[in-house]
Amino acid sequence: MKNLLARKNVAYLTFAALNFWYSIGKTFLPKLTWRKGVNEQTVYLTFDDGPHPEITPWVMNELDKVGANGTFFVVGDNVVKYPGIVPELRKRKNLVANHTFHHVKGWRLNAEQYLNEIAACDEVIGNSGLFRPPFGQINFKAIPLILQKNEIIMWDVLSKDYLPGLNIRRALARIKRQTRPGSIVVFHDSKKAETNLKAMLPEYLKFLKDNGYQMKVL
Ligand SMILES: [Zn+2]
Repeated sequence: MKNLLARKNVAYLTFAALNFWYSIGKTFLPKLTWRKGVNEQTVYLTFDDGPHPEITPWVMNELDKVGANGTFFVVGDNVVKYPGIVPELRKRKNLVANHTFHHVKGWRLNAEQYLNEIAACDEVIGNSGLFRPPFGQINFKAIPLILQKNEIIMWDVLSKDYLPGLNIRRALARIKRQTRPGSIVVFHDSKKAETNLKAMLPEYLKFLKDNGYQMKVL
């Protein structure tokens, strides 16, 4: 119990720090993409940290049910571990994009190491032209170099599905309220987020459909 509480506190503290960073990031890093095509009734669903052998196929099925396509920011290491999933994602018209090879923190590596991580992921998936920094931590010095080959995709709406003990009802109400044309929405097809993801995604997809949103790849 104590462990769970400690874990929860760390998760919330990390989240508070990240929230602060996003609020300044949006202003100071305009070269990064936070939202797209604001005049269309379209949202861009994104799924980070896969592929996972059970959770990613579950997501694909949920998307198929409502005619949605998603962008999957994969970790190269997972692609190597579960090689069948990326071809299946592509077959079903989803987009597979770069989330580094080892899910590294951009503020802990130098620019060269960070670029090598991105290149190693490209080795296994090919260059998609899209990159999302793990933990939202982009290596600042690497930004101009990454932009030579990629758009850097951040987000407009965070599901927070990775938080243990998330209040699902409140989280769903929040993401519905925050959703607007052009929103880039983040979920995680990972073990850590599985319970929250499965509790949230079907209802959120229904909400999008009921509100006339198209769900397209970036
Ligand atoms: Zn991630």
